[in-house]
Amino acid sequence: MINIAESALALLKKSEAEARKLLKKESGPVSVAASSVHKLGEALVMIGQGTERRFLLVVADYPQVLPAGFEGELHRLSDGAALVGKLSAANAAALRRHFPWTAPSSLHDCRTTIGCGDRLGLAGRGQLASIRKFKVKPVLAQQSKRELSMTNRSFQDVVDAACFSVFEADWREGWGADGDHLKTIADLEPALAAGMPMVTLDLSDQIVAAAAAWEDGEVSERFGDCDPAEQERIRSEYENQVFVVGESEVAVDGATARRCAVMYGAALDFAVKVFQYLKSKRGSDFDLELSFDETGVETVPAHHLFIARELRKRGVELASLAPCFPGEFQKGVDYRGNLAEFERQLRLHVRIAHAYGDYKLSIHSGSDKFSVFPIIGRETGGRFHLKTAGTSWLVAAGVIAAHEPALYREMHRCALENFGRMKQFYHITADPARIPALEAVADTALPELLELPEERQLMHISYGPILQGELGGRFFAAMHRFSKEYDAALERWFDRHLSLLGVGKRQCK
Ligand SMILES: [Zn+2]
Repeated sequence: MINIAESALALLKKSEAEARKLLKKESGPVSVAASSVHKLGEALVMIGQGTERRFLLVVADYPQVLPAGFEGELHRLSDGAALVGKLSAANAAALRRHFPWTAPSSLHDCRTTIGCGDRLGLAGRGQLASIRKFKVKPVLAQQSKRELSMTNRSFQDVVDAACFSVFEADWREGWGADGDHLKTIADLEPALAAGMPMVTLDLSDQIVAAAAAWEDGEVSERFGDCDPAEQERIRSEYENQVFVVGESEVAVDGATARRCAVMYGAALDFAVKVFQYLKSKRGSDFDLELSFDETGVETVPAHHLFIARELRKRGVELASLAPCFPGEFQKGVDYRGNLAEFERQLRLHVRIAHAYGDYKLSIHSGSDKFSVFPIIGRETGGRFHLKTAGTSWLVAAGVIAAHEPALYREMHRCALENFGRMKQFYHITADPARIPALEAVADTALPELLELPEERQLMHISYGPILQGELGGRFFAAMHRFSKEYDAALERWFDRHLSLLGVGKRQCK
């Protein structure tokens, strides 16, 4: 790495483009990504790939002119100085200070956005390699509390990992960061402290989901407990009304109006509190998403209309809303359900979202839903947010299956041992008994095994135990060795998602 620093030192007076070209030619066990080479005053800042880990390298003529804020080991060069640092929180903060485009921002005005998610902190480069070819903006950092606790990471770790990827890939076009599936104001605090501009508020603990299945009488009884003036308002505004949304109509009868008031009333009041809290913390620079996908009840169009209309009345501005769609959006496998019904409801959801604040529809558990991607692209006209998360982890598992079969077998065994415990955290229906015994699967057939829905779901939910301890250490070491293969596999995977979603290609420069 000192060789690279010496080479960089000789290029301090060159332009950034020339320095990149010349440093790219350096070969050896330690390398530098050309796109990561950036001029900063009299210094050069870049990210290198060492034999065991990536590192940050800052090179200048004298130690005194090294830019402020970076931490690491100082090396004297023949006629200059180099700082070699870890991809640490302090170095991420220094990058954001010196290169403001490496900080996340609100993507409120972006038509098409994709939530990338990266449980490993390694996926940003591969994701961006694909994303830069399409007219889409990435929410690179996207993690739920559940994922954070499984991976022992903090929101700040997730944002920092994305920040380094953005710097390394020289992605200057903006990226988002999403505190995903947060349920309380206390949950929001660490996400906001980490600079995340997007918050996905999960209302599943606030809504009265059981009321979806109640008899009308029971609903009316509970509705009767509401404030009389509120009852009167709901009746006069919704009962037997037909709402025109674009070229469609959504009818709401009395029973539906009462049911919606019972199911969603308190949850919507809570959404107001969260919206006000976000405003007090970030002014207007935030993206609030409401998610209903894990409520366990379908958000039918009449319910969505009620929610949208009531939010507007309460002054809440949404960036996006994730309904619970008909059919199954299980993790890591294709959509299961009636495609025609999905399309019919999606069209209505799009029109409702457009009529009541023009927010984006958000599709959760969006990885691998190949059969509905063309419908989503067409019906939304490209105005959507699609969340993927598990897919980047599964692609990593695929890289191990292809290149380190023995390690993959251990990961698989660990997943099987923990299946009972892990499946409580995710909605999946895979029966591990349908997975062939691993002893009967040849090494060369392991990548194919990972195409089986059962194996995908098993691996999808088991990242927590796999990434712990000694097994996790060997997994990360292998991922470092096969980082180029991971980048390429992710690029292909995202290309496939974005192409099927009908996202337009950008003109190559
Ligand atoms: Zn979700």
